[in-house]
Amino acid sequence: MKIGIDMGGSHVGIGLVNNKYEIVDKIEREWTTEEKKDLWHNFQKVIIKLIHDILEKNRIEQVESIGIGIPKSTIIDGIVYIKQEKIDLVSILQPIFKTKVYVKNDVKCSGICEKTLGNLKEYNNALFITLGTGIGGAYFYKNELVVPNKYPGFEFGSMIIEKDGNLCKCGRRGCFEAYAAMKIFRDKIKELFHLEKVTSDTVLKIIEQKQKENEVNKIIDEYLDYLALGLSNLIRIFEPDAICIGGSFVYYQEIFMSKLKNKLESYFIDRKIPKILLAKYANDAGIIGATIIK
Ligand SMILES: [Zn+2]
Repeated sequence: MKIGIDMGGSHVGIGLVNNKYEIVDKIEREWTTEEKKDLWHNFQKVIIKLIHDILEKNRIEQVESIGIGIPKSTIIDGIVYIKQEKIDLVSILQPIFKTKVYVKNDVKCSGICEKTLGNLKEYNNALFITLGTGIGGAYFYKNELVVPNKYPGFEFGSMIIEKDGNLCKCGRRGCFEAYAAMKIFRDKIKELFHLEKVTSDTVLKIIEQKQKENEVNKIIDEYLDYLALGLSNLIRIFEPDAICIGGSFVYYQEIFMSKLKNKLESYFIDRKIPKILLAKYANDAGIIGATIIK
């Protein structure tokens, strides 16, 4: 039995995963407003407690390994560098739980899950991309995850697609993420209908009903234009056999997928576009993938 942990900006999930990569038990919870103020210190406390909880609940004393997927941070040799801080989760957790501890970028964990067990299984050269709050990615070449020397790499969201374009969270302008993250799309729908708070579900309902209205259609079209532009760059660079898309984009597949493929095809009049697939493992990919990482 292994433990996989998926740490997100708004929630944390921990799963007990057997050797068939099935989640046998899972605990998930949102971060409290108080915890969010100092997530990195609270994270360590919460993780230790959650591991104890899931072990006790299942009457397990020892696990084979603990894998943790961490979002948007620099991870070098298992050490997480965030802002001015350096957090060595391996040294913190190993003595307590007396097992191997692995730490990796969260999107790389989800990508590994999709490549090992999901819809990318059959493809030797493939890209995995998540479209959610931000954009993350992973690249597989000859069946292996490509890992640069220092940083996690393949942060497709940081590719600049518009000179002096929209301001991005990273402080630069024109990043792919500032146009094609699902959050950008949701925010535009939110603004159009003067909504306070939206979930992927509420946005989906709205656009299902109103997709033929000009203003809604324009938002969908513009979003997919930028997404197709960014993906076309990635296809020209990596020449993947398949691209698998994860994140909340998956919710909108019926509205987005065929339009996206049509737009992509217009960039490739000389050849066929690679297979465009959706992630199979949705919300559990992070937990399962965290148990596969080394
Ligand atoms: Zn950026």
